[in-house]
Amino acid sequence: MERTVQIQAPLPHIKSVNIWLLRGDPLTLVDTGPRSDEALSALEAGLRREGLRLEDIELVIPTHHHLDHSGLIATIVARSGARVAALDRTADYGTSYVERSAADRSFSVALMRHHGVPESVIEANEGFWDFIRDTSEAFATDIVLADGDVVTAGGRDLRILARPGHSTTDSLLVDDASATAFVGDHLLAGISSNAEIVPAAEPTGSRPRARVEYLGNLRRTASMPLDRLLTGHGDSVTDHKGLVRRRLNEHRRRCQRIVAALEQGPANAYEIAGHLWSPRTVAEQPLLVVWEVLGHLDLLLDEGRVSEQKFDDGSRYGKAWFWLPEQTERGDHAGAPTRGSRETSTLYPGVDRAAEFE
Ligand SMILES: [Zn+2]
Repeated sequence: MERTVQIQAPLPHIKSVNIWLLRGDPLTLVDTGPRSDEALSALEAGLRREGLRLEDIELVIPTHHHLDHSGLIATIVARSGARVAALDRTADYGTSYVERSAADRSFSVALMRHHGVPESVIEANEGFWDFIRDTSEAFATDIVLADGDVVTAGGRDLRILARPGHSTTDSLLVDDASATAFVGDHLLAGISSNAEIVPAAEPTGSRPRARVEYLGNLRRTASMPLDRLLTGHGDSVTDHKGLVRRRLNEHRRRCQRIVAALEQGPANAYEIAGHLWSPRTVAEQPLLVVWEVLGHLDLLLDEGRVSEQKFDDGSRYGKAWFWLPEQTERGDHAGAPTRGSRETSTLYPGVDRAAEFE
């Protein structure tokens, strides 16, 4: 009998999320699906196919705190009495889920405002956060794991490794004996994972550099001797080294396109997004495109290929502009771009996949 069973639960926007059933002692689920009737039905149907009921589950391990991976934890625990094991930072988020996601929400509004997203677009996208609130809830963790700890689940030993970047709580669950790992959304076969920008645990004075951290952690994963990565969405990954190489190349190409956009003049992050995606994508997923652009700008800033200037334009948060250093060499550090002197009117059709939604 297969020891690891994939159960797919429906999920708006990106079709489905994988719930992994680990047969063996203790009977375990890795990830849960969102808190919705449809996902719960899909999970129960999947268990029934295995001759099991929800009440049989003994352990639940979320790969990270996102709604589609932890949303049903409280429901499953209430029905089965299962214990929950999670990385310490995932456990922390779960305990204060409502407060933390509310803080993420207000931070994201400030971030969008700061980077040029119009108020009307911000308001029109409140539903993104309503969706998160409505499809998740707080959960308590019984077994709090530190980076590197081992937990027994489904008759095997799983080593938990912190790999933040896509979210602040990402973890891998590595079964060294079979060279297999549950990786959540850290690396996906069919789509490039986003890297969310949320408040830092400790205030640093600048925005968290999630994308830089993410790529560093992807490289660490690429160096691991793994045969199979079981992902949070879609297919498993069997050539993770090759896939990471591809993802790194995609980043390089997108950085190149941002530099090309800035050759037309300085711009804020939202305007840059207008060069990379269709007007519809930019208007409907403003937070995701701002995360994407800022993440790539952080890579370019590290290489000294772009500059950033924050200045007070009278708005509450001021505004950040980005430009190419070599274009601004004329003295007076000036570099500061002249505001209001340009319009972003060239909107290329979307040629990239939209960022992963969750
Ligand atoms: Zn996720």
